[in-house]
Amino acid sequence: MADRDYYEILGVERGASVDDIKSAYRKLALKYHPDRNKNDKTAEEKFKEATEAYEVLSDPEKRQAYDRYGKAGVDGMGGQGFGYRAYTDFSDIFGDIGDIFSEFFGGGAGYRSQGGVRRGSDLRYNVEISLEEAAEGKEIKVEIPRNEACEDCGGSGAAKGSRPQICPLCQGSGQVRTTQGFFSVTTTCPQCRGNGKIIKDPCRSCNGQGVKEKRRTLNIRIPPGVETGSRLKVSGEGETGPNGGPPGDLYVVTHIKRHATFERQGNDLVVIANIAVTTALAGGEIDVPLIDGKKAKLKIPAGTQSNQIFRLKGKGMPMMGGRGRGDQHVIIHVLIPKSLNGRAKDLIKELDSELEKMGEKVENFSRP
Ligand SMILES: [Zn+2]
Ligand SMILES: [Zn+2]
Repeated sequence: MADRDYYEILGVERGASVDDIKSAYRKLALKYHPDRNKNDKTAEEKFKEATEAYEVLSDPEKRQAYDRYGKAGVDGMGGQGFGYRAYTDFSDIFGDIGDIFSEFFGGGAGYRSQGGVRRGSDLRYNVEISLEEAAEGKEIKVEIPRNEACEDCGGSGAAKGSRPQICPLCQGSGQVRTTQGFFSVTTTCPQCRGNGKIIKDPCRSCNGQGVKEKRRTLNIRIPPGVETGSRLKVSGEGETGPNGGPPGDLYVVTHIKRHATFERQGNDLVVIANIAVTTALAGGEIDVPLIDGKKAKLKIPAGTQSNQIFRLKGKGMPMMGGRGRGDQHVIIHVLIPKSLNGRAKDLIKELDSELEKMGEKVENFSRP
């Protein structure tokens, strides 16, 4: 390959901006790309030459070395050898004209994601609370082990005083494209394993990972009304994103313990009240326990039947994120004494004859 000056090859001034260099290279690459110049050795050479010039002049460090020492200054700065990139990925240069480009070279050049920068993972934290706590809401302390950006390297993974280098193989995209005629295959870059960056001198504190596992305590307010399986999203408290990406979210998932007295049905609560047979016969008033620990007076009318249901309006569970509460349903179970003393037996006999006179001593049958 002739030893021409890189600026000359691209046809730009020595002080040309990165954008000028890019656009100059874009024109040349489109003109001389091997896929458009099949079996044309001259075009191939021109393409490689332009690519080599671009490789150096588009990289501030390499460009500086080239400006000072010429090609000798750039040699040994790493990389896969010039021209390689010609067969990899052009979308950083051609992203804005990706559609036209993919027509020429096959495959959806288009736009690619920032190499290596990804959102951190979401975390899930399961918490078990009582029904009372679900009704009232609760402040919980959550201790989560999660990866956080390493303080020593600021999350870059590179030792102090150094910086991660853009991967020369994929130019930071994390992906390489192999083009064969009109077909192209995109794969994860083997050199940087998709990170887009290469760390030559890794931070000792985090072994170049950029993140360290830490236990973090968060105070989380569980709102009233949560159910088993409710997911509370705590934005930004998930894992730190690799390479400075945004953090994921933390999801607190609630599980409500089974309660000895109350059954929950959506926002309603159901409780069975076992009452004396005399209360059912003659009526009375009972104290019904509520989920907030208080009691509600419930009037039992005379002649209340077993399985009759009374409703305490607004005494159920609070509605999550809304106003109001469900109801509490009270199912009556009439307790029949299992044994009677002599006096009680006498009274029952008396009651029995009285009911007979009233025409209330009946037996009838119905469909269950
Ligand atoms: Zn570190
Ligand atoms: Zn790479």
